Amino acid sequence: MLLDGEVERALCNPNYHSILSKHLRCAASESMIPASEVKQRFGDNAGNITDELLNQKALQLNEKSGDLFTHDHPHNSVNLRGATQDSVMLVDGNTNQELEELSLLQVYREVFPNAIYAMQSNDGNLQYYRSRSLDLESKQANLILLDSEPKLRTQATQDMTIKPLEPLREPRLVSLNLKDSKLRLTLSWAEITNHVTGYNLISKVRTITCSHPRCSRYHQPMQSDICTACSKPTRLAEITEVEEENLFDVAYTTHYQAPVLRIEMNLELSEPLQEYANKLKQQIENQFGTEIPSELTPLFQTEPADLALHSICHQIGIAVPLLVLSDRQDLNSYCETEKNRVNTLKTIAYFFDTTDGGNGTCEELFDRFEAFAVRAAQLVEACNCQYGCPRCLTDARCPQDNQALNKALGLFLLQAISDEPEFF
Ligand SMILES: [Zn+2]
Ligand SMILES: [Zn+2]
Ligand SMILES: [Zn+2]
Repeated sequence: MLLDGEVERALCNPNYHSILSKHLRCAASESMIPASEVKQRFGDNAGNITDELLNQKALQLNEKSGDLFTHDHPHNSVNLRGATQDSVMLVDGNTNQELEELSLLQVYREVFPNAIYAMQSNDGNLQYYRSRSLDLESKQANLILLDSEPKLRTQATQDMTIKPLEPLREPRLVSLNLKDSKLRLTLSWAEITNHVTGYNLISKVRTITCSHPRCSRYHQPMQSDICTACSKPTRLAEITEVEEENLFDVAYTTHYQAPVLRIEMNLELSEPLQEYANKLKQQIENQFGTEIPSELTPLFQTEPADLALHSICHQIGIAVPLLVLSDRQDLNSYCETEKNRVNTLKTIAYFFDTTDGGNGTCEELFDRFEAFAVRAAQLVEACNCQYGCPRCLTDARCPQDNQALNKALGLFLLQAISDEPEFF
């Protein structure tokens, strides 16, 4: 793909709301702009944006001369390479060496005080740090290197909400090569809120347990040779146990507005997904018996439609930088269940721009969803891992900690999306 593929689309939209508003403020601070010439000089969008900036007191109007001005120095918040996200530098508390820069959302999830943070060193080995402090004013986190791998790990507890505020485009349908199946895409302006409310101390223990994913006592510690719930033989396995739950006094909250792409499946799609999942399960049971690899257990525990939707979000997210000149970090996804009119649960997926005010990635994804899906399918097919890896499935930034994913089911759904967009 690197050598033969098309060049990615480099998108620069100087009329994009979050970009234009910053440049308007810079211009007004350098030399006053006559209000009557704003549209002529900065394009049609500039009129509405100027009104909004005046409302927010981010611009001021000299009533006498009719000039727009500001006494602030907005240049510091303008990045010529694109829209900036708030980020925090991780610093080694002993050597003062800068380790890595993370977005605010990642820092809240992974580097809150006392968090155990794993990082690859220059020689490729994993090193473990404990976060000593997080200073949001200087945008620095102070980490202490640990001598050895700690027994207990930390895992943030968090909840995310996405609240669509107003539609940006007419919704559109994506038809699939599976009878009557469709995806519905809606692009809206939305509010994205994430609370990291605390963390759990978790440990990995080897214990006798039921290893049958469909059993109600799956991966719970047990003493007997036979599972008390399903009567299948138990075995020794590594399981995750929560040792301690901690709540923060005040949750770490990120809150911003940006374009969001909502994806829904129609009811007809659940049938072919269920059929394919049954086929996969049969193959897995034939191959492994009850000793099913942990990467494959979600298939036995989660609805195929939920698995497939979550998986394609990750897979498409990985393919995005191949089609538009954006970074994998510019976009993230989230799935949630929603009650519909007849009170049945339905899974909805959201893609959201990770930048306050948006960065254009969701809009591009809405317009060319089929092309992204086709490219994602090629990527996943070409990946030589068995059950999914960071190149084709998992994502360290997943708000759901990579729970409920399946490489094959995601690929099945991606392959059903044809290259030809259909407009309604
Ligand atoms: Zn059992
Ligand atoms: Zn892979
Ligand atoms: Zn995810």
